[in-house]
Amino acid sequence: MFIVPEREIADLVTRAASFDAVEKVFAAMAAGDAYNFPVVREAIGHEDALYGFKGGFDRSGLTLGLKAGGYWPNNLAKQGIINHQSTVFLFDPDTGRVKAMVGGNLLTALRTAAASSVSIKHLARKDAKVIGMIGAGHQATFQLRAALEQRQFEKVIGWNYHPDMLPNIEKVATEAGLPFEAVNLDAMQRADVIISITSAFSPSLMADHVAPGTHIACMGTDTKGKQEVEAALLARATVFTDEVAQAVSIGEAQHAVAQGLIAESDVNQLGAVINGTHPGRSSDDEITLFDGTGVGLQDLAVAAAVVDTAIANGVAIEVDF
Ligand code: NAD
Repeated sequence: MFIVPEREIADLVTRAASFDAVEKVFAAMAAGDAYNFPVVREAIGHEDALYGFKGGFDRSGLTLGLKAGGYWPNNLAKQGIINHQSTVFLFDPDTGRVKAMVGGNLLTALRTAAASSVSIKHLARKDAKVIGMIGAGHQATFQLRAALEQRQFEKVIGWNYHPDMLPNIEKVATEAGLPFEAVNLDAMQRADVIISITSAFSPSLMADHVAPGTHIACMGTDTKGKQEVEAALLARATVFTDEVAQAVSIGEAQHAVAQGLIAESDVNQLGAVINGTHPGRSSDDEITLFDGTGVGLQDLAVAAAVVDTAIANGVAIEVDF
């Protein structure tokens, strides 16, 4: 088997490669060629950690495996390492033998950024100029950097529950040569694209904060009980997701479905738009909303690409196992 340590990942993967891998696997999921296994996520009662597994099988790409990991809130303070920790394991689908173990921390950030970016490519208006960010933590910088590559954006506006964190996303805007403005939530009316990426358990973005024609990527809600946007917003929007089963159980759609505002059948797969079996946005006034819950197949797709590059570059460690 091959081991690709976390320290090597940054030199082995690009935003473009992550985007391609995620777009392809969303398409494979919608075509029925790839499927995710039910998510396991447990509060283990030690160090306040949340630990779990996300796995799947892509029959078209022959990628089988899982990502194991989660969130240890005390890591940074106690150990000086980041709170999100994960590792990807890939298996040979012909034999079941383990093929590779790959550091999953940076890959998680990149595959999550790629997902909202893929949604913007396929669902945002072509003339989108203003992007609004809700959230300014670790993941927000990755989401913004990837999103800026999808349209000719002219301005970034941002709101965060903890305003002192806003310089994190201002820095990304400045690096891209774009002006940044800290705003209140009402001003999200000016955004053509909005990305929310917070760990909130109650909604910040209300239906009235959003103008017709906006595309919203809700990326923070990946657990039962979390919520970033008002459920009524989903009723106003055409809703897309990576995986319908996850959207209605651990994604943003869990609340709108539970309140009877939308049905599970109202939630569409983004992959169907990529494949051309769903028309996607149908007018400049339509609000589109991508409920990005994060699927195991995204992790496997980017990890598989990294292993190939690591072997080609001679940095994969081969172990007789
Ligand atoms: P982080 O800790 O670096 O940042 C957390 C963000 O949430 C900050 O902007 C913070 O101000 C905001 N926040 C905290 N409490 C809030 C509240 N009560 N109301 C509104 N905002 C609040 O975390 P991160 O690494 O940036 O991750 C953000 C979220 O994204 C997490 O919930 C994480 O689980 C989720 N996530 C989702 C995916 C996916 O695939 N969908 C992947 C990775 C992370």
